[in-house]
Amino acid sequence: MRILITGGAGFIGSHLSERLLSLGHAVTVLDDLSTGSADNVASMRDNKDFKLRVGSCLDEPLVIELVDQADYTFHLAAAVGVKLIVERPVHTIETNVRATEVVLSAAATKQKRVLIASTSEVYGKSEKVPFHEDDDISLGATCRSRWAYACSKALDEWLAFAYCTEKDVPATMVRFFNTVGPRQTGRYGMVLPNFVRQALKNEPITVYGDGKQARCFGHVFDAIEAIIRLMNSDNAVGRVFNVGSTEETTIEELAIRVRDAANSHSEIQFIPYEEAYAEGFEDMPRRIPDVNRLFETTGFKPERTLTEIIGDVIKDQKSTLARES
Ligand code: UDP
Repeated sequence: MRILITGGAGFIGSHLSERLLSLGHAVTVLDDLSTGSADNVASMRDNKDFKLRVGSCLDEPLVIELVDQADYTFHLAAAVGVKLIVERPVHTIETNVRATEVVLSAAATKQKRVLIASTSEVYGKSEKVPFHEDDDISLGATCRSRWAYACSKALDEWLAFAYCTEKDVPATMVRFFNTVGPRQTGRYGMVLPNFVRQALKNEPITVYGDGKQARCFGHVFDAIEAIIRLMNSDNAVGRVFNVGSTEETTIEELAIRVRDAANSHSEIQFIPYEEAYAEGFEDMPRRIPDVNRLFETTGFKPERTLTEIIGDVIKDQKSTLARES
């Protein structure tokens, strides 16, 4: 197939591109290289089945052309990272909502299959774990910019469901939980690359809040396997799926495990949320996916453990640090 990946020069998108090429597909990446980078796709530049189009998902004629040429579209382009979202809420809302609308409307002309990336942020402040796809969502007040991201992504899902029912677009929605692995940058605030980098430099490891908040970290290779299986499943059309690991850790535990795995002397420093983000910042205490729907539809369960993940990220950050020095 020819596959279009918006945001294909980003962390998840670039791994997905490599995997699809290795499976014999042709891949076109549309990316504005804002949070993604040409380096992420450098290894594919000479592959005759790979094309990089530098451009925006808000460029409607371009998106129409590329979606039309593709058999399947992964719409991964989005404003991501809590730090970026808190700092640039206008950009976040506009990018996430408008771009998804452009992609879905392009897919509607010939009923092209499309996968819309969403996020576990959509569950918001819900305390009923594990999170099931059909659970109610519970977002915070509109004066807190963090929730604009969750809301923009929830609206993307509503749009996708609406295009499915009203315009027969065969869309699949995916809520990515914390996805980590090689190539992820800590620049937009993501915790694991940050901790690993701090540990390798023997700098303080910055745990925000009391560190008791818990997350499940999934390897990007598992996330990619899951979405490729969803691409190949007719049963995935018109539905939303959680994609992530179910191995839970607190952020304080994560800091300790990273420090140990990196043989580091870093101290662990607790930083209040107001200092790390902004006054009144709200975090989620726990976030665990229910992955039964994914398993029942594709037979896939995440395989890689947190120990393997931390090891892979340490290896990757070591080579990044060596390149920088
Ligand atoms: N976090 C932290 N130190 C950092 C970066 C993040 O303690 O240097 C915390 C953050 O407040 C959150 C968790 O780690 O509770 C995961 O953050 P991330 O931004 O990676 O993903 P989120 O789960 O917030 O989407």
